[in-house]
Amino acid sequence: MAENCLERMERIDGKRKIADFIVKQKQDYGFKVHYAAIRAREFVEGCGTRGLGYHVSVGGLDSITLFLFLKSIGIYAPGISVSYLEDASIQKIHKQLGIECLKSAIKPDGTHWNKAQIIQEFGFPVLSKEIAGKIETLANPTDKNKTVRHAIVTGETGAYGGFQKNSRMKMPQKWLEKFGGYANEEEKTEYQIPDFKVSSKCCYYLKEKPCDDWAKENNSVPFLGLMASEGGRRAKSLMINGCNYFGKSTIRSAPFAIFNRQDLLQLALDLNVPVPEIYGTIERKKDGTLYTTKAQRTGCSMCGFGIHLEKRPHRFDQLKERNPKEWHFWMYECCTDENGEKYGWAKVLDYIGIGY
Ligand code: SF4
Repeated sequence: MAENCLERMERIDGKRKIADFIVKQKQDYGFKVHYAAIRAREFVEGCGTRGLGYHVSVGGLDSITLFLFLKSIGIYAPGISVSYLEDASIQKIHKQLGIECLKSAIKPDGTHWNKAQIIQEFGFPVLSKEIAGKIETLANPTDKNKTVRHAIVTGETGAYGGFQKNSRMKMPQKWLEKFGGYANEEEKTEYQIPDFKVSSKCCYYLKEKPCDDWAKENNSVPFLGLMASEGGRRAKSLMINGCNYFGKSTIRSAPFAIFNRQDLLQLALDLNVPVPEIYGTIERKKDGTLYTTKAQRTGCSMCGFGIHLEKRPHRFDQLKERNPKEWHFWMYECCTDENGEKYGWAKVLDYIGIGY
């Protein structure tokens, strides 16, 4: 029988790798910066022996800092970004740094996808990439994803998951109540089904695919500004695979993997990184903690990933303040239903109980 995920963890010595990673995360700033430089140089060497180029995938402050950090240690990796999705102040810095701007992925009709079209076609990016992906899987049942769907609703994994009972595959109960209804018949549940689609494809078509395509065309592999401390989908694989990963289908370097936000902000200060206006400036609290005076993190302006975790004024409120016309479009007009009625994020926020 094929190896299950618990056996795989055992084979690759996953638990020990995670423990080692946590030890490194607890080291001081000086150690981590030195460590990042060693790993970045190793990655460049690894690319050299494999005949690969390397580049930096640039977005907000984290990856801008990575781009300049690499430069500071003599690694001149070209920067690429789907820049137009970012805040204007970030675009300005990208331009200043000579980052190559990519367009979104191409649709079957030859034109480029835009965000409204993706939301209309696939659904809203809401809650988190992981949860949106799970909702999308439930809403699109196939024979192939049957075991995964069962695990999303019940937490019970099949053979590959090692027949676990309460696995992390289960969607949080709160969201199962709202979005789990697609599987009611099979699972004998009585969860709700929303009257809008949810999807995690937005990032894929707007950001990931254009960068992947560029990388393929240029025979190049990416440096990413990811930090395991920020959590998310990739935290565990960062902890297991470490900064540099030369896998069969994925090759990448994340020299800041062991950093936390404080390390990142300290490095940005040390390197005199131009901080895009949307973040404000980097300042120090009385207890020494560094913070940015405006946005702590950025992303596309009208994105629902993480919206349920934000205090008001949340990012949609802030857009209303900055650009009421754009806000109105996304809240009420970005999609059209089968009756020709326009709707938008207001419907989604009402459904998940977020004020606006
Ligand atoms: S961050 Fe949000 S809005 Fe931006 S591409 Fe990803 S899913 Fe879409």
